[in-house]
Amino acid sequence: MARLSTTAKTAIMATLKQKPAATTPMMAQYLTLKQAHLDYLLFYRMGDFYELFFDDTKQAAKTLDITLTKRGQHGGKDIPMCGVPVHAADSYLARLIKAGHKVAICEQMEDPAEAKKRGSKSVVARDVVRLVTPGTLTEDTLLEARQANVLASIGHVHDTLSLAWMDMSVGQLTVMASTSERLAADISRITPSEVLIHAADTEQLCADLGIVVSSRAARGLNSRRAEQAIKDAYGVATLDSFGRFTKADMLSLGVLIDYVRDTQKGALPVLQPPQRDDVASHMLIDPATRRSLELTYTQSGNRQGSLLAAIDKTMTGAGGRLLARWLAAPSCVLETIQARQDMVSLLHEAAHMRADLRTALRAAPDIERALTRLSLGRGGPRDLSAIAHALKAAAQVAALLSAPRDVLLHEPALLPGLIGALRGHADLADQLSAALAAELPLITRDGGYIARGFDVELDTFLSLRDEGRRHITALEAQYKADTDIASLKIKHNGVLGYHIDVPAKAADPMLLAPLNETFIHRQTMASAVRFSSQELAELAGKISRAGAEAIARELDLFEDLRGMVLARAVQLQGCAQALATLDVFAGLAELADVSRYCRPVVDESLDFLVEKGRHPVVEAALNAENTEFIPNECGLGAGQRLWLLTGPNMAGKSTFLRQNALIVLLAQLGSFVPAQSAHIGIVDKLFSRVGASDDLARGRSTFMVEMVETATILNQAGPKSFVILDEIGRGTATYDGLSIAWATAEHLARTCQARGLFATHYHEMTALTAQHEDIAAFSMQVREWQGELVFLHEVAPGAADRSYGVQVAKLAGMPATVVERARDILSRLEQQARSGQSGPSAAPEKVLADLPLFTAPSVAAPLQNSAEHAACSALGEIEPDALSPREALEVLYKLKAMLDD
Ligand code: ATP
Repeated sequence: MARLSTTAKTAIMATLKQKPAATTPMMAQYLTLKQAHLDYLLFYRMGDFYELFFDDTKQAAKTLDITLTKRGQHGGKDIPMCGVPVHAADSYLARLIKAGHKVAICEQMEDPAEAKKRGSKSVVARDVVRLVTPGTLTEDTLLEARQANVLASIGHVHDTLSLAWMDMSVGQLTVMASTSERLAADISRITPSEVLIHAADTEQLCADLGIVVSSRAARGLNSRRAEQAIKDAYGVATLDSFGRFTKADMLSLGVLIDYVRDTQKGALPVLQPPQRDDVASHMLIDPATRRSLELTYTQSGNRQGSLLAAIDKTMTGAGGRLLARWLAAPSCVLETIQARQDMVSLLHEAAHMRADLRTALRAAPDIERALTRLSLGRGGPRDLSAIAHALKAAAQVAALLSAPRDVLLHEPALLPGLIGALRGHADLADQLSAALAAELPLITRDGGYIARGFDVELDTFLSLRDEGRRHITALEAQYKADTDIASLKIKHNGVLGYHIDVPAKAADPMLLAPLNETFIHRQTMASAVRFSSQELAELAGKISRAGAEAIARELDLFEDLRGMVLARAVQLQGCAQALATLDVFAGLAELADVSRYCRPVVDESLDFLVEKGRHPVVEAALNAENTEFIPNECGLGAGQRLWLLTGPNMAGKSTFLRQNALIVLLAQLGSFVPAQSAHIGIVDKLFSRVGASDDLARGRSTFMVEMVETATILNQAGPKSFVILDEIGRGTATYDGLSIAWATAEHLARTCQARGLFATHYHEMTALTAQHEDIAAFSMQVREWQGELVFLHEVAPGAADRSYGVQVAKLAGMPATVVERARDILSRLEQQARSGQSGPSAAPEKVLADLPLFTAPSVAAPLQNSAEHAACSALGEIEPDALSPREALEVLYKLKAMLDD
């Protein structure tokens, strides 16, 4: 994450303090603008380029890999400069923003010709028109279609913490109460790309989460001024109709709105009323759990391989974003879950309708993002057309959902509301379609987007402009006849505009009377002479005026259409949300169908019963290689809360743990689950500690990270929680680790009373089942066949007899000598343990020290000399079955003799 260091700021300030006299007027203008935007890279518009100067160039050149040049001097030194072409600015902006920079866009506010009128030294007026920051993007080129771009803000007043966030590209604003304990979990749930902080205390937290932080402390907003900012944004005198807000809520919301206004230079997108997010209505998932379950990204940062990628069958970007939002915050409200399930069930059963619906959805562009761009004055004709197309798709989807069905399911409660939101937009869709041309330019500047026949006035200007060429051709023919010069032509260039061009050798008559009364000489070239005429000038004037008038008229019409759309913004947002919601339901139904998922029974019990459960991501990966995934049962509940799972490495313990956690998540987001049947009592908090890595940046070793994560779980888990723990206590000495794992399991089952799965290689822990009836032992099944290990991937009651770690090491390709040596050590340790020397008084370290292990390796030490090599190769050539006893004895003598030599 790139932030402007204090040293960089000091350097800029020093540059800024140079005497104005020492610089050009243009550089003085640049420095004034830069001073007002110290935290930003300043894109300073000069003609067709955005130029960067001074220290900005270093940061930009590093990220963009562009060449540094220089331009003039400042304070006796060259001014470093680099630039990006305006037409390609978006792609450069995207890279800078991704690298964590913020950019201030400074445009020329007048035509350079205007500036010249004030004197040859005057500078073109320029101003910053927009601040581009990671959380305030609106352009499709800068956004990921399937990923929400969230800007968050933390409000802190006395002991109250509030988190507000907004996806500016869709104008959605949400606020929730948080606490210092759960703030990290709340932030990781909404995954903002930028967080606004008001006080320094939360800065480190955001930095730890790798999020761009923008401090707004200097704005000096308090809750009262923040409240006013909210009222202004919604144009209301009181916020009562939006619900009750704490002072911290006002602050977080107000800071957010103030920042958006600031970055958009006063403009605001169409804002939906702020929604209050009820903490208790969502499952709590802390950042470590999200990471370890790879919900939206794998631990290596890829979307591919995550749960989201495996289940996302949506057809639209908005559907993809909504699914990600539901997955990030699975519901804890039974009615919500069941209502969603009802919709998925309906679309699951009605396969034909689902197919038609998905085809219609595929053609639905992103209304929300188009609407925001239009509201910020950044929209173009294609945004209007996107809305028209999406509204047509909405009407089609509504018709499909309302058609008679032969599916014997009751009408889902959500259906009428969704159909209602999709209907009633036909007039707007028709008006937009009638107004817009078939081929649309990206921007409004050059016109060409309003359909012919839509507006009489525009058509008149356009035909005048377009027919101008025909009039010119007619005039040319007339002049040819008048002058009797067949090679006479009417041409156009940037300097003279329309003019009459005659080859030099034929031009003489035109310079003489009577023709010189009509034709005015303008230019003599080597090969041609150029003239103008009164008639041609008038015609040219008409053509160019008609062109300009056509463009102005198109702009007026665009503004009318924009106004018409914005006047319906709230209904359009409702329609967009309904389309996205249906897309998610249809996608989940498709997933259930294609991947054989079942509808889980979800209720308020403490049960977790899964029959033939599968891991959605591992199964998909195995299926792609034509390998079958082995399904497994899991049964937790009031009687048997915790399963201790033992078994060899690579047997599938982590997979089993994760698959059950993912089944909980899927069930509570409203999806079907990968199982034959499932009964799930609502889980309020989900915890996963599977695998760990160093967090050296924060000064934590692997073991420390593991302990911190385990402590979080033990402190927060309760009877409605679901916990998966993999290998607690592995990164320390054996008995320390075993003791920690033992005590953790006891605490989980007895104190937290959470449902949980605990995988361990400490087989000793299965003794816990004798002491606690709610702890049960299960193990992953393996078979040894012809000396090889076969993983069955089946979970069965009982403890594993051993870990088979050495066999797995062999499978992994460890050198044979190491494997043999490990086998030897293992058998000695096991022998020692069996003879009763193990236990706290004889730690493995001690056992090893007491054994002559390190002095007398019993297996294949590296071969010492050529005699040994020769003996070994001779041995390798022997076929024992082909030897008689006598011959065998002879061979032995021979080998011995070789070694004695
Ligand atoms: P370790 O103790 O070494 O961490 P583990 O017991 O946790 O190992 P996993 O990592 O869960 O083992 O699984 C190892 C591999 O086994 C997986 O990558 C997957 O390919 C395969 N596997 C796991 N479970 C199943 C299953 N139920 N059906 C088919 N293959 C499976």
